[in-house]
Amino acid sequence: MAGTYTPHLGYTWLLNKSRHMEDDTGKWHWLVKLKAIEKVKHLLWLIFHGCLPTNTLRFRRRLTDNQGCPRCQFAVEDTWHCIRDCRRAWEVWQELGFVGTTNFLGGNTVDWIIQQVDSDQGHLFLSALWWIWRQRNCFAFENHYEGDVWSRRNIWRMANDSHMAWGEDMKVTKETIQILWQRHPWDFVKINVDGSSLGNPGRIGAGGLIRASTGNFLVGFTIFAGVACNLLPELLAIAKGLKLAWDRGYRKIICHSDSKDALRLLSANQVGFHKYRALIFEIRELLRRDWTVRIEHTFREANFCADFMAKFATSCDNGLMIWDEPPQGLQQLLLADIMGISFPRIV
Ligand SMILES: [Zn+2]
Repeated sequence: MAGTYTPHLGYTWLLNKSRHMEDDTGKWHWLVKLKAIEKVKHLLWLIFHGCLPTNTLRFRRRLTDNQGCPRCQFAVEDTWHCIRDCRRAWEVWQELGFVGTTNFLGGNTVDWIIQQVDSDQGHLFLSALWWIWRQRNCFAFENHYEGDVWSRRNIWRMANDSHMAWGEDMKVTKETIQILWQRHPWDFVKINVDGSSLGNPGRIGAGGLIRASTGNFLVGFTIFAGVACNLLPELLAIAKGLKLAWDRGYRKIICHSDSKDALRLLSANQVGFHKYRALIFEIRELLRRDWTVRIEHTFREANFCADFMAKFATSCDNGLMIWDEPPQGLQQLLLADIMGISFPRIV
């Protein structure tokens, strides 16, 4: 310390020092007292120490020559990318309603975790974090990844178990409702459609499938449509789905989309200057034909099959493809719908 020493200066220095020490020990204290299962605490311990074995860290330790993310192969895999920013992780946070909440962006990983866990969604947050890490490891070590439905169900199961074990201190959720794919009247067919975009704007794809009231797959479609904003694939999916149904001779249709924006546009009066007016008019023309069509909103949780088709479309470079058999990977989602498996949704 330069200059003249006074007791006041000494005292201030000491206070600062002890506060910093408290900051650092604070997180360990928090972690020790945390109500969570040991494997989750261990994961947090690794993150808090800055030694989560992501590919960036493994590269630094010469355990790999590739720093890239094993899931998206799009970015360098550091801790933030691994647990939050990777597309595969982001999807989970978005579905569970964390994206857009206070402090979800920014900060450092330690503060981020503590803040999220101390919110009233703490158990759900920790379960999601754990299963995001598990998903990452499936991709990294070429274990079989059993799919998003499997991973989502595990998240909810773990969150509910923790909730049962530790009670109300960290609530799983304010309220959840169960959502499932609903069977429709036997003389109708149902089209589930969805759009997908990797970024906004980004690569876009649209997809959908037509099912009988038993839940059996009749026909599906996927279409990769270049780069655009995320509303276009939603509209495109509705247009292509209706067109396919018409071409196949179905005349009683229920069409389900999870895009409220797209549905709002279709019923809006003033769309003459909208940049997608051609597509909107195309859909309206289809609706005026001599058939019965009900276009309805559905929650994402009842639209996983269409979501799968849309993501599939985004990942390949093909234009319109018609599927008379379900593509590989869709089977288990179809089965989940037929069996009436429901998914919780926060309301
Ligand atoms: Zn990634």
